[in-house]
Amino acid sequence: MSNGNPSLRDKTLAILKPDCVRKNLIGKVIAHIQETGFKINAMKMVKLTPDAAKGFYEVHSERPFFNDLIAYMTSGPCVPIALEKENAVEEFRKLIGATEPQKAAEGTIRKLYADSIQENIVHGSDSDENAAKEISHFFPRKELLEINGF
Ligand code: ATP
Ligand code: MG
Repeated sequence: MSNGNPSLRDKTLAILKPDCVRKNLIGKVIAHIQETGFKINAMKMVKLTPDAAKGFYEVHSERPFFNDLIAYMTSGPCVPIALEKENAVEEFRKLIGATEPQKAAEGTIRKLYADSIQENIVHGSDSDENAAKEISHFFPRKELLEINGF
């Protein structure tokens, strides 16, 4: 962010998963995210189709939990959020904690709110390249431009 313009390293995609929406935790989780210094570039509520969920988690298509994961991610609306902060991917992964909530560090979003390794409240991109792909999957460039003017 040295020149004031966000770089690839400054962006990540969060998804508040269907369990987060069902448990009425959208507000609490977004407050937590904003209090940690993330800026919201774009946000919407969508219900993923099975094809969209399969495409999003394609990397896990051979894993035994894949069908359950798709059923869960399509079980209700979710809230994708394009986020900005310096070193966003790493900082956001730190904020959400380990995949399995019992193993997540104290104070992390998953430790605070998640029920199980599957129903773990929130997604965070795992690399700058995936963050860019995932953000453009949900938000056309125009929507990001209109909100933030960059
Ligand atoms: P995400 O990609 O959603 O941010 P993650 O990177 O912490 O989560 P991944 O290994 O990418 O974890 O798994 C993707 C998602 O698949 C997990 O968040 C969880 O919802 C589900 N999942 C992962 N491992 C298991 C498992 N062993 N059993 C059931 N569901 C799982
Ligand atoms: Mg992942």
